[in-house]
Amino acid sequence: MGRERETLELDVLFVGAGPANLAGAYHLNKLIKSHDEAINKGQKKGRKLGEIAIGIIEKGREIGAHILSGAVMDPKALKELMPDFLEQGAPVEAEVTYDKVLFLTKKSSLAFPITPPPLVNHGNYVVSLGKIARWLGKKVEEADVNIFTETPGAEVLLDGDKVIGIRTGDKGISKEGKQKGNYEPGVDILAKVTVLGEGSHGSLTKKLKPRLKLDSDSNPQVYAIGVKEIWELPKGRVKAGHVYHTMGFPMNNDTYGGGWIYHMKDDLLDIGLVVGLDYKNPLLDPHAELQKYKTHPYLKSLLEGGKLIAYGAKTIPEGGLFCLPKLYSDGLLIVGDSAGFLNSARLKGIHLAMKSGMLAAETIFESLIKDDFSANELSSYDSKFRNSWAYHELHQSRNFHQAFKDGNLVAMFHAGIQMAFEGNYWGVFDRAHNEPGHVHMQKLYNFQKREPEKHNFDGKVTFDKLTNVYYSSTKHDEDQPCHLKVLEPNICVDRCVKEYGNPCQHFCPAKVYEMVEDGAEKKKLHINFANCVHCKTCDIMDPYQIIDWVTPEGGGGPSYTIM
Ligand code: SF4
Repeated sequence: MGRERETLELDVLFVGAGPANLAGAYHLNKLIKSHDEAINKGQKKGRKLGEIAIGIIEKGREIGAHILSGAVMDPKALKELMPDFLEQGAPVEAEVTYDKVLFLTKKSSLAFPITPPPLVNHGNYVVSLGKIARWLGKKVEEADVNIFTETPGAEVLLDGDKVIGIRTGDKGISKEGKQKGNYEPGVDILAKVTVLGEGSHGSLTKKLKPRLKLDSDSNPQVYAIGVKEIWELPKGRVKAGHVYHTMGFPMNNDTYGGGWIYHMKDDLLDIGLVVGLDYKNPLLDPHAELQKYKTHPYLKSLLEGGKLIAYGAKTIPEGGLFCLPKLYSDGLLIVGDSAGFLNSARLKGIHLAMKSGMLAAETIFESLIKDDFSANELSSYDSKFRNSWAYHELHQSRNFHQAFKDGNLVAMFHAGIQMAFEGNYWGVFDRAHNEPGHVHMQKLYNFQKREPEKHNFDGKVTFDKLTNVYYSSTKHDEDQPCHLKVLEPNICVDRCVKEYGNPCQHFCPAKVYEMVEDGAEKKKLHINFANCVHCKTCDIMDPYQIIDWVTPEGGGGPSYTIM
């Protein structure tokens, strides 16, 4: 006999323990406490809120396990949240003391004489966002907020069009879909307000957008993938607080992207490559591009004698202001990367994510006072955002990613014009429209080379995908249903192989998808889902849009510690 599904009632449920929701839960708790204290002291009139049940669910094994970001953090929002964040032990790596932008050709590098204003980082901090999330998570737990790790949101619970909570994922289902001895049904967590902060291309947000028509007035979101490694280098080579961004090699003019080299403390170097998920060549492989990047003489000499200690990948919502969906609905708010609060011109989203969480908290606080969680009441989240510095910042760079549609060289000139004309497209138009990234992928017959590039990874500076995945500490129980739902598998074998050469084999940074022999002259798709690092690239970039990424059993996925 299966166990009965239980119900848990909360006032506020945050889905995902990333910077937006952690900042939101911390801020909300503080607002409630100071409101009640002010009433106790007679400084304020009104109704005390008393015990408000706030919970956060997180699919990772622990807070931070699924968090990956560059990252150079603008501390603006964290300063508002906790003015003494450094004294309170925020684990920053180093304050940025030096930044440069380099243009790389295959063999040489040229420093830009002036750092473009969006990439000036003085006053910001090199951080591991995973470490920041774990630290902030502790502060949130100390404030009596319940954080349920290993708890994925599997389904949004609706009453008509009103969001009333989340059903969490079942545990103990076998790969055949049968209940195992350790079966536990997911819990229905009911809440007056549900805050979706699941990260980039959240699986619940993706389903709710069309259901509640949240994106009918927005541009389709466009993404990039960030592929990242952390290296430990010989003593003295790493200069904590030095920050480099690179353009050029290994990307061609048609592919949006660039590299980063951030110097952390304790002899650690953080390097990575961003590749726009609106590229044309179906054989492009972001993981292989990162390996190529490291063969550049500048990077190779930096890395030689060092050792790789961590690897990971994640998508980044790059589209900007016009790609934000409607941010609220009955019983619902959307924050952070799930909404698309990211400034791609500055390569920064942590401060915007935190600010969105804080604005959501202020909205929820007012709703609790009025006991009204309708869309009408929660719409003040949108007006709070529009009156904040976050809106002003996103407005200035609102057409940045769209400027890259004619190639990187034109975009450099175009971005300069946008800066001079308050973000207007070509200095004139307020809003540039864009298509979803996957439509830019072209069929193989458009290319001279129709076979994937062969790589000779040396195992010292460059590594194959499986070796890299090992360094992401990714694990999933293999006896569970595959969480990568290929909705029409025949397309992979009958059409995609000829038309695009099965690009899932290339864009996945974790070697999850493989076309394997299936009898004479036939191939079939094999999915090594246990390798999945939860980056969501497949759900975004598949040219037929037939891959649906759903949450696997709680606790599965990468176990990032310093990403
Ligand atoms: Fe990323 Fe999809 Fe590969 Fe998982 S299967 S690592 S989500 S591309």
